[in-house]
Order: sequence, then structure tokens, then C-alpha cells
Amino acid sequence: MRAMELIDIGCNLTHDSFDNDRDTVIEAAHEAGVVQMIITGASAEGSLAALELAQKWPQQLFSTAGVHPHRASEYNSDTDSLIRELSENDAVVAIGETGLDYFRDFSPRNLQRSSFEQQIQIAIDSGLPFFLHQRDAHDDFVAILKEYRDKLNAVVVHCFTGSKPELYECLDMDCHIGITGWICDERRGTHMKEFMQDIPSGRLMIETDSPYLKPRNLRPKLKSHRNEPRLLPWILGTLAACRNEHPQSLAEATTRNARAFFRL
Ligand SMILES: [Zn+2]
Repeated sequence: MRAMELIDIGCNLTHDSFDNDRDTVIEAAHEAGVVQMIITGASAEGSLAALELAQKWPQQLFSTAGVHPHRASEYNSDTDSLIRELSENDAVVAIGETGLDYFRDFSPRNLQRSSFEQQIQIAIDSGLPFFLHQRDAHDDFVAILKEYRDKLNAVVVHCFTGSKPELYECLDMDCHIGITGWICDERRGTHMKEFMQDIPSGRLMIETDSPYLKPRNLRPKLKSHRNEPRLLPWILGTLAACRNEHPQSLAEATTRNARAFFRL
């Protein structure tokens, strides 16, 4: 069997839990077959830091530029200019992470919606792919996205955790779907297993969302609570089992999709 090449389309490698061993984490990911990673930008400073990190590992790391719905209340005209400026850099391969999160409501919902719409405008103007987060806000999310979908380029709903009808609505809007270790979680991910097969293989990508969402079915268990990109093959394996698919063919499809989607 050929060595698998995987791409982690969402990892928060600028998170301070990686401050002491970031390079080791990146090298361990490469050894595990994770040949390219997209560093998520989730705030103004975070997007800058993500780009700086990506520039240290050309062609292996790339970044996104955006403001997460949790941080939407910080979004202002300076942030908007910064994201626009970052979007011109070759290592920035998508706008986001943006979207709506009504589960935590860390930022007021009206500000989440306006920050989302302003970043939609940046994605339209730059023509870059769009990296989206949605939790417990499906109806508003769809209503806003639908309004602009025709003007947007490629769109991924990252860390999809919704229901089957919600999945179909995202697919109907021509979105790609990012799957994380959520499906490895016997408490919260079980509902998703039965419809993972419904995602067309040309729409599917995989991600760890490191350092969050360490796969709960990981064996042997790790002492650390931290998730890492080197654990991506575990998510691939779980997803392949849900889809009755060989891991190798799923690896090839998701890697091909990620390269086409982010134009790597
Ligand atoms: Zn997210």
C-alpha cells in the first residue's frame, strides 16, 4: 500500500498549548502522513499569527484569515482592513473562520450576523474559498449564506455536527463538508454516523480542529487532552468505517478535494 497523504483543513496551531513544542507537533504530523495543514485564523491577531506560522513552512502550512463568531463583537473597520490585507498573501488560502455560533453565544447574535456578512463581502471581493463555522444556528446561517451564495466561490462548512436534513441543505447550497473527530465521540457524534455515507466523495474533507476535539475513541488513550494533527488518520479511519469505504480511497478523495478547494 502506498503511504497515505492527508491534509488537515482545520487546525489551530497558533493556540498557546503548542507554544512549547509547535515544530515537533508539525514534524510528527508529517511523519503520520499529514503532508499539508491549514492553520485556522479565528481573530485579527490569530489570523496574523496563522500567516506568520504558515510562512515558516512554505507549501506545507497555509492559513485562513477571519474572525470566529465567538469573537464577532471585536469586529470593526480595522479588523476588516486587516483581513482584506491578509487575503492578498499567497499563503492565505481562505477567508474565515466565520459564521454563527448560538450554542455558546460568546458574542451577541446581531454582531455575529453582521461580522459574518462583512466577511462574506471579503470572500466575494477576494474570490477566495470560504471557511465556515455553524453551531445551533442553522436556520439563520442558511438564510444569510443563501442570499450571497451565487457570488461566493467554494464554501466549506467546517466541523459539521448537524442533522441529516441540515447536511442536505448545506449540500444543496453547493458547500463542501469538513468532518472532525466529532464522529469519534460516542456521546455527541453517534447521530452523524448513519448519514456520513450520504456525503458525495467529491464534497468531503477532514480536519482535526486541534487542539480541540481529541478523538474520544482513540486507542491507546493519550494522557494529554490536546488534539494534534498527527491524529488525523484516526478520524479518517473512523469516517471510512462509517462510510463502508477503504481508508486509502477516502484518503485519496479527501486530499484531492482539499487541494482543489484551497488551490494548494
Ligand atoms: Zn469552528
